[in-house]
Amino acid sequence: MADLFDKCKTAEGYFGQFRAMGDNYYTRPTLDSLPGTRMDFMGKEQIMWSVNNYLGLAQNEEIKEIAKTAISTHSISAPMGSRMMSGTTTDHLEFEKKLAAFAQKEAAMVFNYGYLGVLGTISSLVGQDDIIIMDKLAHASIVDGVFLSRAPFRVFKHNDMNSLEIVLKRVNRERKGGVLIVAEGTYGMTGDLAKLPEMCELKEKYDARIFIDDAHGVGTLGEMGRGTADHFGVQDKIDIYFGTFAKSFASIGGFSASDKDVIDWILFNARTQVFAKSLPMVYVRTLTRTLDMIMNGDDLRKKMRDNSNKLKNGLRDLGFYVGEGESPICAVFTPLEDRVLEEIGGKMITYLREKGVFVTGILYPVIPLGLFMFRMIPTAAHSDEEIETTIKVFKEMRDDLKLDPSMKGEDLASIRKIYG
Ligand code: PMP
Repeated sequence: MADLFDKCKTAEGYFGQFRAMGDNYYTRPTLDSLPGTRMDFMGKEQIMWSVNNYLGLAQNEEIKEIAKTAISTHSISAPMGSRMMSGTTTDHLEFEKKLAAFAQKEAAMVFNYGYLGVLGTISSLVGQDDIIIMDKLAHASIVDGVFLSRAPFRVFKHNDMNSLEIVLKRVNRERKGGVLIVAEGTYGMTGDLAKLPEMCELKEKYDARIFIDDAHGVGTLGEMGRGTADHFGVQDKIDIYFGTFAKSFASIGGFSASDKDVIDWILFNARTQVFAKSLPMVYVRTLTRTLDMIMNGDDLRKKMRDNSNKLKNGLRDLGFYVGEGESPICAVFTPLEDRVLEEIGGKMITYLREKGVFVTGILYPVIPLGLFMFRMIPTAAHSDEEIETTIKVFKEMRDDLKLDPSMKGEDLASIRKIYG
């Protein structure tokens, strides 16, 4: 008979190999500096490409002052209790109204974490008689929300509208209840945008509803940073629009926005928030101001986009395959000779970090098996010099490690599947 803890002594489980080797380099790297474009890692200053500080608001001085004032009056505790019992304040309600107006929906509701928001929203709305249809590359929070709902689910090929339509047709033959299509607006790892206009047409044709997790689109795309659906002109067709505060907002939490009766339903039924303490005032007060900065952030968005284009073009000129799509995310694919993922992937990461460029490597299951990718996040705060140095270091890596960065055969076919 096995003991529950036997597995803990093995290299099984998520990132098991790294856990077994006590890794603090590739996984859980220790980064003590403040989030920004330069951070220290293992005693060396790095140009940072792994922080989702899209608009560069993480160290905003005005936000710091608002936080200090909120802490001085409310400390870190207030309000105490769940929203349902003693955790609702006028500030919470006003912030939610402001979020609803921003998202052009009737109502909005905040959650303590984006992750909990996705789980709570999906699982409160969908039950065992309903069916969920999700994109194959959907974020873990979506997958977990689907599991928590205990509803049957189907998966469609990533961003493939034929595949979605086939699934919708099949599902409509057997459906007893409602159908919810779930996808990200901007895919956070690969940077491609969901085909939202086509998805909205399909959801109407097959009488479904659509939930869009726009963690990476909110603040970065669309008019006033309203996100990926606004960018495509279909915000009004998204039934439930979701954003997190962990990226462009440089804070913590998330929100769902929809019709008032739907938000009321979620408010009373999303167990991840009903049974959790309310978002503290320091976050509500600072986020309320950050939302203004996001809405008035066209200059920051332009700077972020210009920086992203400079980085993407520079790396493409070196022969690297950089993911397509209009999001700022810069997904740099590299071939893996002999498919020895850890070896060559690890070598590249070490090379870059030793030269002061901090990147994170991404592997299966986040991207298709056999591929290796650096997920780089250009922000409004990066300087030309930081971008140029990074491109130079990638060139040195290509030459010193004798990499042929061009993607061919099976690898190229896998990438093309992502970018459709
Ligand atoms: N959805 C997506 C697409 C994400 O990238 C993330 C953040 N990793 C989340 C949800 C969870 O958000 P949070 O970090 O605010 O919990």
